[in-house]
Parts: sequence; C-alpha cells; structure tokens
Amino acid sequence: MPVSTAPYKREYLHTKRRGREATIICGICGKKVPRWKTFEARKGFRITDPTILQQVDKRLLHLNQEQLKVCPSCARFHHIVKRGKSVRKKHMKI
Ligand SMILES: [Zn+2]
Repeated sequence: MPVSTAPYKREYLHTKRRGREATIICGICGKKVPRWKTFEARKGFRITDPTILQQVDKRLLHLNQEQLKVCPSCARFHHIVKRGKSVRKKHMKI
C-alpha cells in the first residue's frame, strides 16, 4: 500500500461496479458526475412576501425548493461543503 502524504484521501474503490454507477448531471454546471461524487444542496431560496408570491410563477416556486445534486467543484464553489474537513476519521490513523 502506497502511503500518501496528502492531507486528504480519496478512497473510493469502484473497480468492480464501475460503469453501473449512475451518473448525475450537476445542477449548477451541467457536468456529468458519478453519483457517489455528488453533493446534495437545497436551494434555500424561499419567497415569503405574499405580494411577490402572487406575481411569481408557481412552477418557479417549485423549482426554488428543488434539491440539487452538484459536483464537488460546484459544491466547494458555492460553499455547500466546507473545505478541508474530512468526516472519514477512521482513515486518518497513521
Ligand atoms: Zn458542477
């Protein structure tokens, strides 16, 4: 096992099931991303003003509450995920 000196690890082992993984189109940039790479983002944009609500198309409102799947770079760019914090702590043992 090669030891990486990088502060993070990308240990996704997909060799066997590669190709069967679903790809999702990024909701922001439109890039095709494997599903395991995507992040979920909710568009937290809600219109509460009743006067605006009357003017706005209902379909648009629905769109605003949609859950987005975004690629890692977009997630970082839009601060959906925080950078540099790894949740997978069990891999961090030296
Ligand atoms: Zn993207």
